[in-house]
Amino acid sequence: MNILVINCGSSSLKYQLINADTEEVLAKGLCERIGIDGGMHTYQPKGADKIKTQTDMPDHTKAVQLVLDALTDKNSGVIADLSEIDAVGHRIVHGGEKFSGSVLIDDEVLAAIEECNDLAPLHNPANLIGVNSCRKLMPNVPMVAVFDTAFHQTMPEKAYLYGIPYDYYRKYKVRRYGFHGTSHEYVANRTAEFLGKDIKDMKIIVCHLGNGASVSAVNGGKCVDTSMGLTPLEGLIMGTRSGDLDPAILEFIAGKENLSIREMLNVLNKKSGVLGLSDGVSSDFRDLGEAADSGNTRAKVALETYAYHVAKYIGSYVAAMNGVDAITFTAGVGENNISARAMIGEYLTYLGTRIDPARNNIRGEETIISEDGSKVTLLVIPTDEEMSIARQTVALCK
Ligand code: ADP
Repeated sequence: MNILVINCGSSSLKYQLINADTEEVLAKGLCERIGIDGGMHTYQPKGADKIKTQTDMPDHTKAVQLVLDALTDKNSGVIADLSEIDAVGHRIVHGGEKFSGSVLIDDEVLAAIEECNDLAPLHNPANLIGVNSCRKLMPNVPMVAVFDTAFHQTMPEKAYLYGIPYDYYRKYKVRRYGFHGTSHEYVANRTAEFLGKDIKDMKIIVCHLGNGASVSAVNGGKCVDTSMGLTPLEGLIMGTRSGDLDPAILEFIAGKENLSIREMLNVLNKKSGVLGLSDGVSSDFRDLGEAADSGNTRAKVALETYAYHVAKYIGSYVAAMNGVDAITFTAGVGENNISARAMIGEYLTYLGTRIDPARNNIRGEETIISEDGSKVTLLVIPTDEEMSIARQTVALCK
């Protein structure tokens, strides 16, 4: 079975065509600047160079059409025609409380996803546009929705309720939802498989440290807590997002700088995190590392503050689960940033675990990075959200 995996944003569309039987990625690509001048389609068939084409894409349907044309192109395509796409898996950001797992898309499901739009006004409508464009061009191909929030739906009330009037939950469903669920689920399962253990017997903390970042506590294979909240703004300090802060700061700074709530949220989402903390050096951990190495104090303190916050979350999830067997690092920073992992590891020796510097000296490989004899195993497991979406799509379409 060939599965087309689609991750559709407001002006971009990422995709992969995966042969689900062999788990080979046949082709992947990205459409950028949809609906804006200067559209760009990058297409990469397996084992070949990227092909970049500048084409305006007035809407998402045009972008999906370009993708389908590229996949079936006589020269650089990887399939003969559209009948070789057996199903489409769509990443959907917010499933609210309606979806605790992936589902086959029909009109009823689409309406239910639409009802979650006000919980993720930037992401969900864009995801739905992607679904509708694909349905228009491939009306007989089954489509599956895979939600970023679904894995976290097993959290107990004490983990997902905020300390605010209950009526806001009752009326508006204001609560912790969590994101990156596909990644947390995939990485927790791989952690258990890699260690040759049954996930039902394990307490695992997954640190998904990318540009966006979140931590989750997975007890017996079920998520019991996670650091992102109603929106992806809560929790860890991220590339450009603030993570946790005293909510009164919003009014204080808004008053001083004459900003609206919307403008303040823009600051907290786009100008904060390690970018803001480093006084504007960068949101990218590679740049920050280089700046810190060449003596930039603000970059150094930003990296220290980041690691400290990750360690505090790990500590709180050890408490939440009354123990931990494995702590796994994943995503761009977690998989590749040797010094960030080392800095976080320094806070974990109270758990009877220590990072082995030689083992930690790797990027993007499944491996144990703690010393032999450590009570808690520290690992790196590269995440693969697309493969996970493809597998879930196959499971629902068989
Ligand atoms: P996104 O949330 O956009 O998917 P990623 O998971 O791709 O983010 O993570 C991006 C982050 O990973 C960037 O800050 C980048 O600096 C970091 N990163 C990627 N590769 C490396 C590397 N080789 N060394 C250090 N940091 C890296």
